[in-house]
Amino acid sequence: MAAGGALGGMSERRQIPCRSCGAPELDVFLSLGRMPLSDGLLSAEDLPREEPRFPLDVAFCAKCSLVQILETVPPEQLFSADYPYFSSFSDALLTHSRDNVRERIAERRLDGRSLVVELASNDGYLLQYYHGEGIPVLGIDPAPGPVAAARARGIETRLAFFGRELALELSSRGVSADVIHANNVLAHVADTNGFVEGIAILLKDAGVAVIEVPHVKELIEHGEFDTIYHEHLCYFSVTALRPLFARHGLALNRVEPLAIHGGSLRLFVEKRECAHPSVARYLELEHRLGLDRLDSYRGFSEKVERIRSRLTALLADLKRSGARIAGYGAAAKGTIMLNYAGIGRDTLEWVADRNVHKQGRYIPGVRLSIVPPARILEEQPDHLLILPWNFRDEIIGQQAEYRRRGGRFIVPVPEPAIL
Ligand SMILES: [Zn+2]
Repeated sequence: MAAGGALGGMSERRQIPCRSCGAPELDVFLSLGRMPLSDGLLSAEDLPREEPRFPLDVAFCAKCSLVQILETVPPEQLFSADYPYFSSFSDALLTHSRDNVRERIAERRLDGRSLVVELASNDGYLLQYYHGEGIPVLGIDPAPGPVAAARARGIETRLAFFGRELALELSSRGVSADVIHANNVLAHVADTNGFVEGIAILLKDAGVAVIEVPHVKELIEHGEFDTIYHEHLCYFSVTALRPLFARHGLALNRVEPLAIHGGSLRLFVEKRECAHPSVARYLELEHRLGLDRLDSYRGFSEKVERIRSRLTALLADLKRSGARIAGYGAAAKGTIMLNYAGIGRDTLEWVADRNVHKQGRYIPGVRLSIVPPARILEEQPDHLLILPWNFRDEIIGQQAEYRRRGGRFIVPVPEPAIL
């Protein structure tokens, strides 16, 4: 059953303080209902128990324009010891990371005396490229599995959550970074201000923090509601980020668009203000799109409702015509899409995923089983629903043989469509 309660283009004021500026009230413009944790994949032993669910309400801060969810699930529950996400399983992400490293080495003239720190360094997917060039690195990550994998490939990694406290401890031991990377982590931390303060503490005076975040513009314009999940507390605009950094003595000096992850931003943050014209361009763009005003967010829940009804109608039509449908990619966004749209075992046969740590498990809520991709050619379902649609070209490329044998792909976002 579909769980969400759309607000039908309305919003609702709640007495909950903003995660960034601390304003006392927020305006909720989308309510997805009670959702299981998107990365909380189940093992066979978990199946007799009901998995935890938490409300997923999205709000706008009228004071600083930050879009955020209201519920903060304790991090211990989000990042368990068997957290299954290993960055190095995505070719697109590795290419993106290698290019990022090459640009930073050239731009900052890094060498054996430099230090590069990555916050949420996962399995060392990015730092490995610095390490390979003889540049000292330090990874920081709270997930034991990926940290062990990073250490195994020689990447020094601290098993910890990053924040003000850890930054002070490192700084007191003389650790100071020329470059700090923080990719897709700022939105995940419960103490947003403590995290940014930590960056300010750890950064050398002439250093740069290179931070990648999904842009709220993509979420709103393309209805990418499946990128909303409990791990993802904030949905950033340049408008909302500038005051967050400024509060900690950091200047947002440059903004670059990134195609990865469905439209993200790469932010260059330094202690000295020296703004590149891209910052003003983004502020103007966001103002023109209304990303600094509540009104613009109200139509979003209607768009989300439309994607859900079109996708379920498309799949129901295919099932009626006797089609066999399976899913591809047990990504976090898949959990949200499947649970919100109520797509379960009566619609999909299974979900294939390359990550061996996910295979044999089940997607929470809908409880679809996760199988190795070899099943795709073994069983040749008529359609494959691509859940991590941001990697759709890569997935379609990997599954060329499936397509050659007549298989078809379905993407849910920006509009449900058969490719
Ligand atoms: Zn605020």
